[in-house]
Amino acid sequence: MNICGYSSCDLANGKGARVSIFISGCTLHCKGCFNVESWNFDYGEKFTQEYKEKLFKDLSNSWIDGLSVLGGDPLEPQNIDEVTTLCKEIKETFPNKTIWLWSGRKKEKIIDLPIMQYVDVVISEPFIEKFKSSSKYFGSSNQKIWLAKTGVDYDYENLYNIHAKKEVFVGEKTRGFDCGCEE
Ligand code: SF4
Repeated sequence: MNICGYSSCDLANGKGARVSIFISGCTLHCKGCFNVESWNFDYGEKFTQEYKEKLFKDLSNSWIDGLSVLGGDPLEPQNIDEVTTLCKEIKETFPNKTIWLWSGRKKEKIIDLPIMQYVDVVISEPFIEKFKSSSKYFGSSNQKIWLAKTGVDYDYENLYNIHAKKEVFVGEKTRGFDCGCEE
């Protein structure tokens, strides 16, 4: 599996301060895709054991709220087994950290995938150019944000207001925001 992006402290993709990883490869080819290079499964660099160890080390920092998995599309058949194993290991090691996952696939096609037992929040549906929007977490207004284990819509607008007051959510709890990064 290749990755085409990595951030050890990302404040844009998901709640709070997060480690973000962008998985290479996407066969959906949405018209107007913002990241055509990421369609190629060989784009970027190999996700090696060393990279994985760095990811776990970065996630162990107390100010990091969790992992965000983006792409490409992390749920491509070519990548899904490795991404599922990664999410499982992360959830077992850091049960209080959240995992957010972005996919261009439709909710009804992915909600029952085994990976969903390890993920907290999902942003799904293909990008549709005519519905392009400037939302914080997705590129077109047809896209959905929901809780992986129940399928219930996620109230991200409400949480965004809370985040603006310098608090972040970890699961059901809030705590003071203590990251040195600037948003
Ligand atoms: S799912 Fe995402 S990466 Fe894939 S084509 Fe659509 S917008 Fe681009």
